[in-house]
Amino acid sequence: RKRCFRISTGSKQWDSILAGGFQSCSINEVYGEFRCGKTQLVHTMAVMAQLPKDQGGAEGRVAVIDSEGTWRPERIAQIAERFGVDPELANENIVVGRALNSEHQHELVCGLSERFATGECRLLIVDSIMCNWRTDYTGRGELADRQQRLGQHLKHMTLMAEEFNITIMLVNQVQSDPGASALFAGADGRKPLGGHVLGHALTTRILLRKGRGEERVAKVIDSPDCAEKEATYIITTGGIND
Ligand code: ATP
Ligand code: MG
Repeated sequence: RKRCFRISTGSKQWDSILAGGFQSCSINEVYGEFRCGKTQLVHTMAVMAQLPKDQGGAEGRVAVIDSEGTWRPERIAQIAERFGVDPELANENIVVGRALNSEHQHELVCGLSERFATGECRLLIVDSIMCNWRTDYTGRGELADRQQRLGQHLKHMTLMAEEFNITIMLVNQVQSDPGASALFAGADGRKPLGGHVLGHALTTRILLRKGRGEERVAKVIDSPDCAEKEATYIITTGGIND
């Protein structure tokens, strides 16, 4: 595991509860209610990943699977300026695929193998992981089928993360119906989508919530090597910060 690296979040406090950031060779998830900063975090990390290793980066390019239509090159440009990176170059180093449905999403990830195998890309972002699966499989009768296909998709990503030594960041939403089950429930009683199948595929799971005023809070829910601590952060023009 010594070849593994960590990519910074952009916030020193947040990095500190993760021993430096989100780890490679594994699948990491941030989940939480709307506007808590999930999309802002992965935008920030898309710039961080390009930085030198001693600045919390991975000296690599980035691949993004956008399933919600919320990827914004203008935000990347703003965040790049904060870190002294050329805004155009920052965007050129990010390949973005718009996932139209769950099958398409799987195909997009498979199509990225070459970029990861060569070491060109070091970070894979999926924002969000469940949105397409949720709309493609409606109704209770389709749940088992959904979970099986989701499991195959996640297995593929796990192998990619390990074999190619990349960090995978999944953004996930919370159930709009809190309290359906206490399992995986966060501090606010809400639970992430995807059930056991997604939960078991993850190495690190982080709950995001709104704090006082502009403050946001990240909490380690599940990690193989970090305690269940909390960190506060804010969302700025330059991305996630202390
Ligand atoms: P959703 O579940 O709806 O996708 P999310 O967790 O992805 O939500 P984000 O889009 O990451 O939420 O965060 C939205 C927040 O980011 C808003 O509060 C918004 O004010 C803030 N934000 C967006 N752009 C900027 C910016 N340029 N400067 C400061 N704050 C910003
Ligand atoms: Mg979002």
